[in-house]
Amino acid sequence: MTKYYDENTLMYLNGNFVRAADARMDFYSQSLHYGYSVFEGIRSYSTTNGSTRIFKPVEHFDRLKQSAEAINMPYEWTTDELIQITYELLAKNQLGDAYIRPVVYAPANMSFAPNEHSYILIQAWQMAPFLGEKLLRVRTSSFQRPNPQAFHMRAKAAGHYVNSIIASQEARANGYDEALLLDINGHVAEAPGANVFMEKNGILFTPPAGHILPGITRATVLEIAAQLQLPVEEVHFQVSDMLHADAAFFCGTAVEVIGLASLDDQPFAAKWETTRSAQIQKAYKEKVTEPVASTTTVPVA
Ligand code: PMP
Repeated sequence: MTKYYDENTLMYLNGNFVRAADARMDFYSQSLHYGYSVFEGIRSYSTTNGSTRIFKPVEHFDRLKQSAEAINMPYEWTTDELIQITYELLAKNQLGDAYIRPVVYAPANMSFAPNEHSYILIQAWQMAPFLGEKLLRVRTSSFQRPNPQAFHMRAKAAGHYVNSIIASQEARANGYDEALLLDINGHVAEAPGANVFMEKNGILFTPPAGHILPGITRATVLEIAAQLQLPVEEVHFQVSDMLHADAAFFCGTAVEVIGLASLDDQPFAAKWETTRSAQIQKAYKEKVTEPVASTTTVPVA
């Protein structure tokens, strides 16, 4: 198990840096009882010049705000202040390659009524960059992604993740590395915590927004594909289409770009190293560790 904190680790909690081991929250929080909170998963990297860089922080903290607003949670912070606080948090914990987890949560409230305020915490723990050798064995899940008429699928809301957890656990219990979930129409949607792409005859395909969390990594892959002049189509497709693909990969902040070995026990046709997908993986790895202008990397001791 990952060790998330020790007795010296600091987390940010509602205006203060506090020891994670001493931090407290209200057990009557509406978030704990009903999964009514929003969160982000962000990464920082030690760049090639030794500075620490949070990857796409504006996109992540803007999404945190949009997620909160989508489910009527008051949101009182600016993206700029949260980025600054996160750099401070990394510096205080002496973290370079890290996973960063902001959570916006609700006060004590056992009813379904809206709240006047929200609370915020930001945690960070060490996470080494993924080296990219591993390929995943994936199984189509018996669980579908939620109906977009039941949830705001663009919001990264805690409650949505019960669906992710049961799907992922089902795949692992059956000996696979991860699940692939379909949408309510039977089209390929996404993984429990990542988006999906397939490659066929030099073209990349990925499901459009609507039934998925359209990820920030997915957007980065689209940028990289454009730079590599690799055509991408955002279209619905089925498992049967994917089984005939040359290659496929998952992408997300935590998994970065990770190739698939097989889907439902059928290996992908092309050798991973020879695919355009592998080129995207390599370009992604390079992009996240590029140093950025000093104004956006201001570690404060
Ligand atoms: N889909 C789901 C369900 C996720 O949880 C994630 C991870 N946040 C993603 C896709 C990928 O999103 P991102 O690239 O922004 O991390």
